[in-house]
Amino acid sequence: MSIGNFEFEVVENQLIVEKIRLLRVKPNIPVDFQAGQYFSFKIADKVNRSYSVASPPNRQTIEFLVEIIEGGLGSTFIDNLRVGDKFDAIGPLGFFTLEKTGALEDDNPIIFVATGSGISPIRSMLYDLLENKKTSREIYLYFGLRYDERAYFFEEFGNLVSIYPNLKFYPVISRPSAKWNGFVGYCQDVIRQRPLIHNARIYVCGSNKNVESIINNLVSFGYDKNKIFHEKFG
Ligand SMILES: Cc1cc2nc3c(=O)[nH]c(=O)nc-3n(C[C@H](O)[C@H](O)[C@H](O)COP(=O)(O)OP(=O)(O)OC[C@H]3O[C@@H](n4cnc5c(N)ncnc54)[C@H](O)[C@@H]3O)c2cc1C
Repeated sequence: MSIGNFEFEVVENQLIVEKIRLLRVKPNIPVDFQAGQYFSFKIADKVNRSYSVASPPNRQTIEFLVEIIEGGLGSTFIDNLRVGDKFDAIGPLGFFTLEKTGALEDDNPIIFVATGSGISPIRSMLYDLLENKKTSREIYLYFGLRYDERAYFFEEFGNLVSIYPNLKFYPVISRPSAKWNGFVGYCQDVIRQRPLIHNARIYVCGSNKNVESIINNLVSFGYDKNKIFHEKFG
């Protein structure tokens, strides 16, 4: 698997909730990547932005989950992409993968902790483990969002739980509406209330601030820092 230049053709660019797009592209040639890796999109001359793959390897198309930031160069570029548009990308890049962190050398539990669009690489790893690798190891998925009314993937992950008994899913909302009757606060608040999972490898992804706060909390709860891996989105 080497880094290369690809042309991605847009197959779908759906606004799944306000300010969140699920972009699906077809590469001009097959792409060999590991779940958790990202591509650098060419936005304009000398302007590139990184986006993690949100779908597992070995599919005909590749999905990206993009938070549209008002006025952002990459965000505006992606917001304006339409079916049939083509753009250049470099990749696959990055080391936030199950392979590169030794996770496939044992069958120990895996804890995923994602906030916001940080769910992208974790969704890729989750499907890779369950569908491609057919794992029966324990997987704990904590996914934090601000608003339940703008939640995405909650239903999808809920459905996975009913198919895969080894998966536990904890959706966490920090600014709940009156209708929300699930976990409230931050992912780390919910993790703290649960028994320590021994020998777990932990994968954390989200904004710099969230990732740092989650890791500091997990270490203070007794999790081994050497088994915590992360990707920061900036
Ligand atoms: C390895 C890696 C993988 C990534 N994967 C994804 C992914 O899968 N999905 C995804 O949506 N993003 C991802 N990102 C973030 C992405 O690369 C861009 O940084 C993001 O889309 C903002 O770029 P922009 O060009 O739209 O905004 P810019 O033009 O770079 O910034 C516009 C303004 O918005 C501010 N800003 C930048 N980021 C944020 C933010 N998160 N929240 C609020 N304000 C912000 C900036 O400070 C600036 O003032 C990833 C980043 C890295 C490093």
